[in-house]
Amino acid sequence: MLQVHSIETFGTHEGPGIRLVIFMQGCNFRCLYCHNPDTRSLKGGTKMSSEEIIELLKKQKPYFKDTGGLTVSGGESLLQRKALLDLFTKAKKLGFNTTLDTNGSILDDDTKKLLEVTDLVLLDVKHIDPVWHQTVTSASNEPTLRFAKYLKEINKSMWLRYVLVPGYTNQKEFLEKWGAHFKDYKNIDRVEILPFHTYGFYKYKELGIENPLSDCPVPTEKEIQEALTIFEKYFKSVYVR
Ligand code: SF4
Repeated sequence: MLQVHSIETFGTHEGPGIRLVIFMQGCNFRCLYCHNPDTRSLKGGTKMSSEEIIELLKKQKPYFKDTGGLTVSGGESLLQRKALLDLFTKAKKLGFNTTLDTNGSILDDDTKKLLEVTDLVLLDVKHIDPVWHQTVTSASNEPTLRFAKYLKEINKSMWLRYVLVPGYTNQKEFLEKWGAHFKDYKNIDRVEILPFHTYGFYKYKELGIENPLSDCPVPTEKEIQEALTIFEKYFKSVYVR
């Protein structure tokens, strides 16, 4: 069974085309800028079977056209990799595109099996500097970088994503380093810059937890443009979302 936080039936941001997006409950990171703090607890959510999700996919099939399909996001998807293997295997058998949105923190045999039935990985690499990554996420970036390297080795299509947060992830030298680190990865189809936003702030209030970035400004157009210019030195397809 899958522990599901919520479902978006016509998602357009989590992968190509129109998608059924399943947000999983539970996360092993604690990003300062998390806009889904309600997905982080390992408790809660709703139990769903693969079959129930497959039924939803079948209903939405006419909207997917050539590009859409199923995306699993979080929380952190890989915490439920065994259950996802069952779901993705069934979805693929029926011809649906499978996309995994992840922080890339777990690479074991189960993850590797899951990747065999995954068409596209959306990988968030939240900071290239180990110390800053620890500050921003409360976790090491080593597993994520190892995960990215594995995707390169198996030539798995991926979109690399980067949340741009003033004062935390917008240091020019680290944006350069981030670009240089990944520039030779031929399996990267696109890079996405996700400017920090405040849409999830109300959730911190609802949960009664402190919002560590409540005073953080959103990036200015100039800051977004600067990050874009740096990444475009290293990658052909860079988008701001
Ligand atoms: S990985 Fe995603 S869900 Fe987990 S804390 Fe970070 S932003 Fe939130």
